[in-house]
Order: sequence, then structure tokens, then C-alpha cells
Amino acid sequence: MVAYDAVLVGSGINSLACAALLTQQGWRVAVLEREERIGGCIYTSDDLTLPGFTHEVMASWHPLWTGGAAYAELKPELDRRGVEYVNTDLPTGSTTPGGDAAFVWTSLDENVAEMDRHAPGDGAAWESFFNGFMGNADLAFGLLGTELWSTAGLGLGQKAFRRFGRRGSLAFMGSTLVSCRDWVTATFRSDAAHGLLAPWVLHTGLGPDQATSGFMTQVIAAALQLGGMPVPVGGGRVLVDALCGIVRDGGGEVRAGAEVEKVLVSGGRATGVRLAGGETVGATRAVVASVTPTQLYGRLLAPGEIGETVRREAEAFRYGRGEMQIHVALDEPPRWKGARADLLARSPLVHVTTGLDGVSQGVNEAERGLLPARSTIAVGQPCVLDPGRAPDGKSILWLQLQEMPGGPVKGDAAGEIDVGDGTWTESLREAYADRIVARLGESIENLGSATAKRVVLSPADIESLNCNLVGGDIYGGSCALDQNLLWRPLPSAPGHRTEVDGLFHIGASTHPGPGLGGGSGYLVAKELTKPPLTRRVLAKLPGR
Ligand SMILES: Cc1cc2nc3c(=O)[nH]c(=O)nc-3n(C[C@H](O)[C@H](O)[C@H](O)COP(=O)(O)OP(=O)(O)OC[C@H]3O[C@@H](n4cnc5c(N)ncnc54)[C@H](O)[C@@H]3O)c2cc1C
Repeated sequence: MVAYDAVLVGSGINSLACAALLTQQGWRVAVLEREERIGGCIYTSDDLTLPGFTHEVMASWHPLWTGGAAYAELKPELDRRGVEYVNTDLPTGSTTPGGDAAFVWTSLDENVAEMDRHAPGDGAAWESFFNGFMGNADLAFGLLGTELWSTAGLGLGQKAFRRFGRRGSLAFMGSTLVSCRDWVTATFRSDAAHGLLAPWVLHTGLGPDQATSGFMTQVIAAALQLGGMPVPVGGGRVLVDALCGIVRDGGGEVRAGAEVEKVLVSGGRATGVRLAGGETVGATRAVVASVTPTQLYGRLLAPGEIGETVRREAEAFRYGRGEMQIHVALDEPPRWKGARADLLARSPLVHVTTGLDGVSQGVNEAERGLLPARSTIAVGQPCVLDPGRAPDGKSILWLQLQEMPGGPVKGDAAGEIDVGDGTWTESLREAYADRIVARLGESIENLGSATAKRVVLSPADIESLNCNLVGGDIYGGSCALDQNLLWRPLPSAPGHRTEVDGLFHIGASTHPGPGLGGGSGYLVAKELTKPPLTRRVLAKLPGR
């Protein structure tokens, strides 16, 4: 049996980041991927629509990656390997029902002016929110970047206690539970500001009326101003190739078409994996699995290898809403309508929305199994940042609909589309995409005439590209509070250690959750390579 220091199951961003970081510490690792392509949700394709058009089939925007700890550590090597990011000063905007639009800039002054433009006084509210948030940004970002069930997590709690005292700490914790609706309506007067921020909670897997969605709205609003909306030149595959290069140059292996069907356990310790077909790959120090809890505890481990409580909790793990993706190749750049068309045209990620209540309604309809009547449309315009993704004078759109039923479709909230037995057939998928494109045509005047080709992915199609996206849930499991933060992935097995020695659980289903941050891969790489306790204690002694 071939043996590596570590074997990683799956090749998403968390596995690749973990593998690259371990390699830099001298580990020999193997990354094993069941699909014929490496990268998980990072899937850049030249073949999706027409020759000359390059699409991010799934994940497109990299602010979480460039703002994360894994990138900070790997950046010098990624730079050397040609990974280049481009960014913008106008990361996002939202249309408003009256034909106006609202924007977030990367400048505090611009954001103050923008908010005041919609309601005098909202500018001061933005400034006050931003400054207040930054005063405790170490705690807010710490919550999303720390192994919570660990001494580091305890340290974060102690830091809050020292800063706020007992009652103040409880108040701070309580404030993180607020819903988006309650926070935006208490903070800003204008509907435009509410409609600008509310769609962003969809990108955290939540809805605007859920606990913690107000905290996530604040994190995102601050992150947009601080970090913009970076994308890698040439697409995410450039990052994937560079991370794979680090692993391979360090003597490791990255293999596509290698489905892990069993984690091998001997004497309570993970010793490797068995692939479909019977081949075994040994791991002398760790097996790191980037899979759902359903797969880890229901398939890769045998019932006797885990406790009954964890097995039951894994069975009850819930998946969130589904997602639909529409990719469009355009013969010319989109021409937006309205007074602020020029800004809409140069912002890479625009939400076409009817506002806070519209997002709330779309989420509610999707969660009841209905096709929403008026979905929030996330309109990605990658060519604004990276024009090379389309031939000269042409463009592409990356359209994302995050208010889709996660299971069988029970009906159409608009009462127009026959959903049949609720299966995502081609005709159901295209009928719904027609509705979306028709609505988007109200905001982009040349959408119909400029469309050269459109490709639609239903929630079922998305799951077929990556088995971790169950029911088309692009976030690897519901991010409702009882399944998030201290309780992700499972209340009895939170964080990344498992009941099996040497077996670690990473990926979107684990803390700090979904997105391209690579956070769980980073945390596990750090845990695996931290110096022994004696060395850490000695390093803290005076005079050392
Ligand atoms: C359509 C879409 C758009 C998104 N847009 C963005 C965005 O713009 N920005 C952003 O930050 N986030 C975005 N996200 C979310 C983000 O991409 C994901 O949360 C993140 O990439 C998940 O990474 P991961 O490390 O959990 O692994 P994944 O990317 O989920 O990869 C896991 C891999 O493991 C493999 N695997 C599973 N089981 C096995 C097995 N038994 N053996 C071998 N291999 C196995 C799978 O095939 C898969 O390739 C998007 C997601 C989707 C789907």
C-alpha cells in the first residue's frame, strides 16, 4: 500500500489549501478526488457555451479567499506561480423597483455619500456602523476564523470578557444573533439601503429573517468596503493549478477520478482510505475528509467505528435551499437601463431585487418548496474585472438564483409553471430560466438581442457536479444557527476533530462554513503542524 503523511478526501478549496500548507511544512500528501476534474466548486470552463467564452461554472468571486488566513500564508508562493487578482472600487450594487440603484464602494466616503443620496442621515448611520464594527472586528472575524472548541476559541471568549465585562460580553454575543431585517431597518431609513444589503444574506446560506443574518450582513458590508470583489485573472482554475503545483512539487499527489469509499480505521485510528475499485492509500499521520457529515458518518465510516449519538446527528443533518445557475454568452456587453446604468455596468456583482421584502418572500417560497414568483437575481459580470473571459467586444453573465427549493418542487408561487412531479426536468429548468431572463430583460435592455447562448444548471445539475451539494445546496448544509458556528457540523462532533484518532473533517459542512475562504482546511493544517506542547511552552518563557 502506498502511504503518505496525509490523505485528503476531495479536492475543493479547503482540501487544496490544507494540502498546500501541509506540503510547505514538509508533509507528503495525497489529494483524492472522485470527479474527473480537480477543484470542487471551483470549475472554470472554456466549453460551457461557445468558443472563446470562459465561465466559472460554479464559484466565481474570491473576496473570502483573498481576505483569509490561508491565502495570506500561501500568497508569496501563489504569486510566484502566476496567480494574479484583479479588483474593483465598486464591488456591488442593487437595482431598486423605481428604476434607481444603490451601491457599495470600497471607500467609506463614497458609501456615506451613497447612503445619504437615498435618505439623508443614512450616511452617518453607515459611518457609525462601520467604525463600530471595526472596533470589534478582531472578535467578529475571529468568530469566523478560529477553532471555536479549542484553547484559541476560549481565548477569543476571554478577549471579549476583558473588553466588555460579563454583561457586556453577553450583550455582544446577543447582538450577533440579530436578523438582517431587524438590523437593516433599525440602522438605515431608505428602502434602497435595505435592498442593497439584504440580498447578501443569501450568499451566507441564510434568509433575512433568520437569527445571525444581521451579523452576517454587517460582516459582508464591512468586507465589501475593505476588500472589494477580487477575481483571479483567467479564472479560479489558475488558483487550483497553482495549489496543485505546490503539492506535486513537494512530492505529493493530486488525483482525479479517485473516489474514496471507506476511511480505514485500525485500533481506533485512521490509517488511510480505500478507493472504489479496491486500491488502498495509507496515511501515517492524518486522513482529512472534505465531505458532508452524511457521507462521512453514513458511508466512509462503519457504524461500529463511531458513537451512536454522532451517527444519529449526522443522519439528521439538514441541507439548505437549492440554487440555479444561468450562464449567458453575449455578443456585446450588457446595457443596463435607468439613471445609474453606467455604475450598474461597471459593478461586477449586481442584485436585481424588489428589496428586503422581496428577498424574504423569495426565501419563504423556496423553503416551502415553491418556485419563487420574483427571485432575487445575482447578476455577475466577470468581464468587468477580467475582460479576457470573452472575445473582444463580447461579454458573459453569471446569474445566480439562491431562492430555490432544496428538494422536489411542490409548485410555482406565480401559478404559471406546471412543475409536474417536482423533478428537475429539462423543461422545468428552462421554463423557470425563461422567467428569470424575461425579468432581467426589464433591467438590461439588450439581454434578448445580445444573447448568443445560454446554459442553465438546476439544483439537481449542481448536485451532479459535486456530491457535497446535496439537493443543490451550494453551502454544504443549512447554515441555520443550530447547525452553525459552535454546532457545525454536529453538536456532538463540532469543529474538525472526529471520534476517530487522526481523522479530521473539513469543508463547507464544517466551521467556518461555506465559501472560498479555505478556513477549515487552514485550521486543520495548523492543528496538524503545530509544535509539540513542550516547545510551545518553552517558546513563551521570558528571555526566549
Ligand atoms: C454555484 C456555486 C457558486 C458559488 N459561488 C461562490 C462564490 O462566488 N464565492 C464564494 O466564496 N463561494 C461560492 N460558493 C461556495 C463555495 O464555492 C463553496 O462553499 C466551497 O468552494 C466549498 O469548498 P469545499 O472545500 O467544501 O469543497 P468542495 O468545493 O465542495 O469540493 C469537495 C470535493 O470533494 C469531492 N468528494 C466528495 N466526496 C468524495 C469522495 N468520497 N471521494 C473523493 N472525492 C470526493 C467532490 O467531488 C468535490 O469535488 C459557490 C458554490 C456554488 C456551488
